[in-house]
Amino acid sequence: MLKNILSIFLQPNCPLCERATTEEICNYCQKQLKSCQLKEPKKFWQGDLPLFVWGEYDGKLKQAIAALKYDKNPQIGELLGFLLAESWQKYSLINTKIKPLIIPIPLHKSKEKIRGFNQADIIARGFCQVTKYPLNTQGLIRIRQTKAMFRLNFEEKENNIKGAFKLGKSLENNSLSRPVLLVDDIYTTGTTVKEAARILRNKGIKVLGVLAVSTPRHL
Ligand SMILES: [Zn+2]
Repeated sequence: MLKNILSIFLQPNCPLCERATTEEICNYCQKQLKSCQLKEPKKFWQGDLPLFVWGEYDGKLKQAIAALKYDKNPQIGELLGFLLAESWQKYSLINTKIKPLIIPIPLHKSKEKIRGFNQADIIARGFCQVTKYPLNTQGLIRIRQTKAMFRLNFEEKENNIKGAFKLGKSLENNSLSRPVLLVDDIYTTGTTVKEAARILRNKGIKVLGVLAVSTPRHL
């Protein structure tokens, strides 16, 4: 079903290098993408909000995320979700009997309208296709526009994001028995995911951690 929907977007050329290909991205770019994969993706799986990251935000992975977000290539997001899921399953960091609810970090409605989709939704969808975890793309709602984070210092970032999210209706009105994993495309300082986790935990929902496709090297 999803494949049929996505086939509308499929292009005959690789969106990253223009080589002809029938895949989402060509074999050459797939190899380059895989070279961005972290050697120890589980090293951040610790502390109050554990983090699992697939790769380094650089080179082909940085290019792929930009192509997903700014050139409107949702099929790349699905592929990144597959890669994240394969790696996640390999490490079994949680009890494999638990199927956590996947909640992508939401965009503000106006931003999603401009982009046409939320990249974290697409990544999460690819991830759930592989893992069979349940997905709720409306678990959290972004109620406030936030400024671009990279210009702000730590305190400004915290103030910028505070109160930016609320629970979606389905979580607000019902109790949730299963724990949650948050999904995002890029993890930088963690300010955004910490605020998202705070909103869920205030409601008594257990948040196991964060899954991100990429993080910059300096983390
Ligand atoms: Zn390519």
